[in-house]
Amino acid sequence: MTVSWAELDAHGVAKHTLLVKTPQGERWHELSARHCKDAVTGQSAILVSETDISTVKHTEERAQYQALHDALTGLPNRSYVLKRFQQLQAHMESTAHQAISPTAEQAALIFIDLDHFKDVNDTLGHAVGDALLVQVAQRLRQVTRGTDLVARLGGDEFLIFLTSADLDGELAQIQTRLLHSVAQPLFLGGTEVRVTPSAGVALYPRDGSDIQTLMRNADLAMYAAKESGRNAFAFYQPAMSAALHSRTEMEAELRQAVERNAFTVYFQPRVDVATGQITGAEALVRWQHPVRGLLPPDVFIATCERTGLIRPIGNFVLQQAAAQQARWAHAGYDLLVSVNLSAYQLMHPALLADIAAALAPAQGQAQGLELEITESMLLDNDPQLAERLAALQRMGFLIALDDFGTGYSNLAYLQRFPITTLKIDKTFIQCDPSDRQLTSVITTMCKLMGYTAVAEGVETPEQLAWVQAQGIAQYQGYLYAPAVSVRAFEALLATNNLMQNRPPAQSP
Ligand code: C2E
Ligand code: CA
Ligand code: CA
Repeated sequence: MTVSWAELDAHGVAKHTLLVKTPQGERWHELSARHCKDAVTGQSAILVSETDISTVKHTEERAQYQALHDALTGLPNRSYVLKRFQQLQAHMESTAHQAISPTAEQAALIFIDLDHFKDVNDTLGHAVGDALLVQVAQRLRQVTRGTDLVARLGGDEFLIFLTSADLDGELAQIQTRLLHSVAQPLFLGGTEVRVTPSAGVALYPRDGSDIQTLMRNADLAMYAAKESGRNAFAFYQPAMSAALHSRTEMEAELRQAVERNAFTVYFQPRVDVATGQITGAEALVRWQHPVRGLLPPDVFIATCERTGLIRPIGNFVLQQAAAQQARWAHAGYDLLVSVNLSAYQLMHPALLADIAAALAPAQGQAQGLELEITESMLLDNDPQLAERLAALQRMGFLIALDDFGTGYSNLAYLQRFPITTLKIDKTFIQCDPSDRQLTSVITTMCKLMGYTAVAEGVETPEQLAWVQAQGIAQYQGYLYAPAVSVRAFEALLATNNLMQNRPPAQSP
């Protein structure tokens, strides 16, 4: 009898659960004992009963299992990790107090996120996305040892917690196997699907002695792995925390700047090489920062694209550019005003509605406006892309390919898209004269295929002479003028007009 007498005396009842072998197999029984009076003699007695509680027990176990595991992949979940970490930590602390031994265990937490998983979900549907996660879970189990903890934290985030006496060796092995195994193509619903992992590693206790700190730092390292070009492993470094701080600060400041509309648009003249006449302007955004002054876009555009803030900012720039184009046209200056369009804007479902709204103050006119996109945006292989560009062209926009030459596309590939202008990247103009053969080839093909070529970044008379010798039609660059305010641009227009010996245009 395993019922505790002390418990019985203290509470008047004592219970004990035990696994018993029965002819029906193993069953859970509950033994309970309570004080009572014998019905016949009236003497004090103990009533012992035994109940089969197997069903209740199994339901309980299932509930506990479900609370600690992910239903889709069957892997342990976040709650499990938190619980298990406490046990592991207690174990490691107790072994660490023992004499410093060469076999003392060390631990690492690896945070894994799948690159472009959202694209799989968006384009192939959630069923395929789910099937992919199940397969990735299996692969993660395969690349780890049975003693490592593999968990799914939610979405496409996974975690591996490993302890080892040879942590560096173990991590190196997991890194190789993980990057290789997860990146293997999968066949799901008749389609080949590929995702790659980005992983961040935090070491215990160096990078954090509690699970929250370890997870945060592994997450930061994972972020760094993504920034380094994805499909990569990165180890946490303290500088990452500082970078995150400035990144989140910048994000918060940019959100405020969007609310307060702290942006302004500068214009850089685009000039005809043969005549020296200003034929257009490129709209370039500037941020009027309350402390740091007027900031150029390289400081903030990448953050805007990552956070989607580029959408309201880009809409503002387009609206300003369209209104300015209309005002200049009204004043007698027939200028092509070009606006940079980011990948985020181009692929946004509301692109056409956004553009219509931005053009409304200028009576919806897209004539006289050009949109600049980059080569990498064309390499996305998105079937919608050509249709989107065609729709923009039907609205009246010209389409230019910006930073041409820095990507991988060939001119034949470009012909699928309604592009009229190629802006040759400044690296080709500013390079050593002996390295300019490639630019010659580009400009020759450009002419053969009927594109208007624009040289970017012309800073010296020598560069302009070369551009002219190549037969490149137009140029932009500090040699003529940098991007300037509307007022300064109008001063440039006036001077240019005089130099062209044209009748003066009406004052804008
Ligand atoms: P981009 O489209 O290639 O714009 C040309 C950049 O080269 C401008 O820098 C311009 O000031 C600079 N530049 C012009 N002439 C010269 C020159 O002779 N020498 C040199 N070294 N540079 C020259 P900015 O204004 O700092 O813009 C940087 C980039 O930011 C732009 O490159 C564009 O990619 C992006 N950007 C600017 N405004 C917008 C915008 O409204 N929307 C989006 N999505 N991106 C923008
Ligand atoms: Ca541009
Ligand atoms: Ca450019």
